[in-house]
Amino acid sequence: MTEFRSVVAATGEPTGPAFAVHGPAEVDAACAAAAAAFDTYRATTREERAAFLEAIASEIFAIGDDLIEAAMSESGLPRARLEGERGRTVGQLRLFADVVRKGTWQQLRIDPAMPDRQPLPRPDIRLRMIPVGPVAVFGASNFPLAFSTAGGDTASALAAGCPVVVKGHPAHPRTGELVAAAITRAVAACGLPAGVFGHLVGPSNELGAVLVQDQRIAAVGFTGSRSGGLALVRLAQGREVPIPVYAEMSSINPVLLLPEALKARGAALGTAFVGSLTMGAGQFCTNPGLVLAIEGEGLEAFLAAATEAVSGAGAQTMLTGGICKAYLSGVAALETANGVEKLAEGLAGEAMQGHAALFRTTAQAFLADKALGHEVFGASSVVVVCKNEAELATVLSGLEGQLTATLHMDAADEALAARLMPVLEVKAGRILANGWPTGVEVCHAMVHGGPFPATSDPRTTSVGSLAIARFLRPVSYQNLTTGLLPPELRDDARGDGAPRLIDGTLTL
Ligand code: NAP
Repeated sequence: MTEFRSVVAATGEPTGPAFAVHGPAEVDAACAAAAAAFDTYRATTREERAAFLEAIASEIFAIGDDLIEAAMSESGLPRARLEGERGRTVGQLRLFADVVRKGTWQQLRIDPAMPDRQPLPRPDIRLRMIPVGPVAVFGASNFPLAFSTAGGDTASALAAGCPVVVKGHPAHPRTGELVAAAITRAVAACGLPAGVFGHLVGPSNELGAVLVQDQRIAAVGFTGSRSGGLALVRLAQGREVPIPVYAEMSSINPVLLLPEALKARGAALGTAFVGSLTMGAGQFCTNPGLVLAIEGEGLEAFLAAATEAVSGAGAQTMLTGGICKAYLSGVAALETANGVEKLAEGLAGEAMQGHAALFRTTAQAFLADKALGHEVFGASSVVVVCKNEAELATVLSGLEGQLTATLHMDAADEALAARLMPVLEVKAGRILANGWPTGVEVCHAMVHGGPFPATSDPRTTSVGSLAIARFLRPVSYQNLTTGLLPPELRDDARGDGAPRLIDGTLTL
């Protein structure tokens, strides 16, 4: 195949002009350009790099409605959602500009020499973080803006000083092309080498595989399915020089309904839960795919309200025909699983549309069938009815790693919540109370990550300013002359505002 076309999510029909399918020659050219740009780009000042990130944000916003319409057509997502997502995308570029300016990410440390120390003198040792090198970025279909071409991985890698080569998502090539052109304009306007940003497109696994195996790529940021993420991890580990892959994959995001909260507002929780479950046709990595609760009247009220809300929920266009098919077969598998009862399904839709589905099972049945704990990407959820706290804790302990875990609780539930906290911390990247996991704030304290299989590396996050750390590595400078030290580590580096840890004490 030499060309492919954009597909209208609602109809499955191809539309618009054809895109040339990139192959090994284009990967080679993009990686060569990225490698050639690395030294110049990493030498930019913090102010220059921050201004570049802001220029990308402005260029994306300046595309205007063409971008929103392209994303609506290719993803089937509604206008308001995509306008919000554009705001989030430019917002996170601006957040990283601010982070770059402040300089904390450099983690400057100075341990001055102690020539008189006994029994041995201490040398002068200084540390800073430097960018790892060109980064390959893979976005997901469900966030064509915020987790794609100029999404969090691209923003954090560029903020770290790494050139980026994006493997465009085949489900939204037009959206990706518009954003890539905006980044390219910002590169030129800021006088940076063209290789700071590269964009490759094509609808096959091969393109990404060649990119990840290119020896000039130093790290990978990926958002998408577990199978895709794991395939890239294996390729990266099998290289002559293995590299890290930060793959943000799937999660079923357990929601724990604690007894007093259920007693007080079971029905209201049921209705609100379905609002979160069906948002965006359930195509969120933080979708609440699992509910855990102890049997009782409160839980029955929750189930009755949730059943009613799911039954009235309209079917929604899914991102791609493949995702729709996978969702419907996941729901069909739950329908026939042992010990699982279908409580409700949403209104039937057209081809390319998925309807919500709600299932109920027991702790015993859930523990007996590992498949019940796998992600069904869409608006489907399983409620596990536990007999008591011990059963609830056993189910929780048996879960895989998760992006989020949610507690619905009242003050009188706090003792139970405290007993569950040690397990929740081990299982999830983010624990939240009395809210819903969908909706991930982009800020400094956010962790959008978690233990495997939520991610391939639980030590980090793909959302929020901490994401920059994935693309940095530390270098120590021992007894170097002032002329050889990076400016920010010299004794006279005053007034640049970056905090430094001097002999273990934070100095602003
Ligand atoms: P996907 O099918 O895995 O695609 C993601 C990207 O990886 C695409 O560019 C795809 O392009 C590429 N890819 C997939 N398999 C590959 C392979 N074996 N080798 C090389 N490249 C490969 O994921 P998606 O359908 O876009 O996204 C839906 C999934 O993402 C859901 O499971 C959702 O939960 C998850 N997600 C996770 C997060 C998070 O932060 N944890 C956020 C959003 C979504 P090609 O198909 O052209 O190769």
